[in-house]
Amino acid sequence: MIRLFPNAGGWLEVVCGPMFSGKSEELIRRLRRAEIAGQRVLIVKPQIDSRYDIGHVVSHAGAKMRAVAVENPADIPGLVDDYDVVGVDEVQFFPPEILLILDGLVEKGMRIVVSGLDQDFRGLPFGPMPELLCRAELVDKLQAVCHRCGGPATMTQRLVDGSPAAADGATIVVGALEQYEARCRSCHELAAPGFATG
Ligand code: ADP
Ligand code: MG
Ligand code: ZN
Repeated sequence: MIRLFPNAGGWLEVVCGPMFSGKSEELIRRLRRAEIAGQRVLIVKPQIDSRYDIGHVVSHAGAKMRAVAVENPADIPGLVDDYDVVGVDEVQFFPPEILLILDGLVEKGMRIVVSGLDQDFRGLPFGPMPELLCRAELVDKLQAVCHRCGGPATMTQRLVDGSPAAADGATIVVGALEQYEARCRSCHELAAPGFATG
């Protein structure tokens, strides 16, 4: 038998990919399995993501698990002290301090499973994701189905009033009237800077 993690110490897993690729579903699946194994599990998520339900992680297909919304990475260690496995959803929204905080939890022997967008709507690395991907023991990059051609989608398309968002739009637009689709590289579009309102 191959033992992936022979040491008793903690480790970091990253689940990434575009929107609709099943990251939240996969996070919930891994934490449910840990629960079945008798481990104490908790999911945290950034306060910014209040799209569905502030007390839960909810996938686009309806899978749901309780989660604690935190404003600041420094709030996490106090919350997860009694847990064996800690999930972090939408981890791309956290500031760089998340790296040291999660390193500390791994050093203490915890299994950390983070999920988040590897790329922003432009296709550029999103927040702390490059560092997390580099540090992780285990990485999974999921694909969605391209909303336009049905092929494997690795990118997130932002639409403002149905048109591609401009390349110089803000990365995070809270509460904006915008829409997102999963797209493959060839169907992904960006408007010229200053061209659209996004
Ligand atoms: P993520 O957290 O990556 O945004 P979720 O786990 O919330 O993804 O949702 C994944 C689910 O979304 C899929 O199981 C599927 O039911 C649904 N879904 C809707 N649109 C798509 C799409 N274009 N590609 C893949 N899954 C999709
Ligand atoms: Mg998600
Ligand atoms: Zn496509």
